[in-house]
Amino acid sequence: MSPTATLPRKRVVLLGATGSIGESTLRVIAAHPDKLELVAIAARAGHARLAAIARLFPSVRHVALFDEAAARDARTGAVFPAGVTLHDTGSAGLIALAGLPEADIILVAVVGTAGLAPALAALAAGKDLALASKEILVMAGQFVMAAAQAGGANILPVDSEHNAVFQCLAGHPVADVRRVTLTASGGAFRDWPADRLAHATPADALKHPNWAMGPKITVDSATLANKGLELIEARWLFGLRPDQCHAVLHPQSIVHALVEFNDGSVLAQLCPPSMTFPIQHALLHPARAPGTDLPLDLTKLSALEFRPVDEARFPLLRLARTALQAGGAAPAVFNAANEIAVAAFLAGRLPFLGIASVVEKTLDRVQPPAPADLAAVLAADAEARRVAAAKL
Ligand code: MG
Repeated sequence: MSPTATLPRKRVVLLGATGSIGESTLRVIAAHPDKLELVAIAARAGHARLAAIARLFPSVRHVALFDEAAARDARTGAVFPAGVTLHDTGSAGLIALAGLPEADIILVAVVGTAGLAPALAALAAGKDLALASKEILVMAGQFVMAAAQAGGANILPVDSEHNAVFQCLAGHPVADVRRVTLTASGGAFRDWPADRLAHATPADALKHPNWAMGPKITVDSATLANKGLELIEARWLFGLRPDQCHAVLHPQSIVHALVEFNDGSVLAQLCPPSMTFPIQHALLHPARAPGTDLPLDLTKLSALEFRPVDEARFPLLRLARTALQAGGAAPAVFNAANEIAVAAFLAGRLPFLGIASVVEKTLDRVQPPAPADLAAVLAADAEARRVAAAKL
């Protein structure tokens, strides 16, 4: 008998159940009914899909919709099964689900900054946090890590690169680490020459070669802003110095991260580019179980290539590293300006190359002092959004 067979089932709260990470998480939970039990789900506005999930997983007892109108429609239509409690809208509902007494682990996969308050609520309640939303650590890394320490809770990275670092680091003190390298697929424009990028459309940017993800993160992959955000996340998650966090282009998305130790040995984590691998690792940690998707077949890999990132073509990675080095509220400013610029690009109101220039101008303009608390971070975020919107 395996040592994990006798463990009680982990009760999972999934915030962001209808998005791309949410869908993969549901597949992992469905594949391991003896180990995982879904007890609560939340979504922004997709009440019909949320209700369908509640019917598919009868263990779900609590639901929340962020959007007021969606919650009203759900109540009017009585879409949720009997015995399911629909919580308040907005942050209040997410916070209530994150602190449910019966929950063991909270997976936060909500888009944007709405995940910050429920993540902190989960940590304050001493719950383990499976973290998929980048903004949480990018904006408020120092406060989130302090909350985890105070509550005695674990933060389990769901992002594939950070989950890979987490697996490579297992049992090794961070003092033994020389550097951490996150891989980048290069996104939709990996092989586009610089002059062609000026005419890149949202439809072009949304054609990711390896991963199926939501529109915001797919554009962030095409600009490499996503990799920049991930370097900032890595700094907080693993207690690294900014100069220890690196990125390398790896078109196949099979190696997700590499950890180089002081003696020159490098450990890497490999798996197919499906989010079920890191999600399952985070939810079952420290246990292992058969994967939800087919494992890697080394005989079918033609090559594993690595090459440096061309920061002239991908200036958002350079800007993210500048924000990482600057510290304080600079990463929050970078993130907020990027969100505004990407939304404008997706709406057809900003050319592709305009994303980097809006972010650069905002970083030049908004330079608040190091934030003393979360309120100061949110103020820097709001100021950066206002300035970025004016630069469009
Ligand atoms: Mg990633």
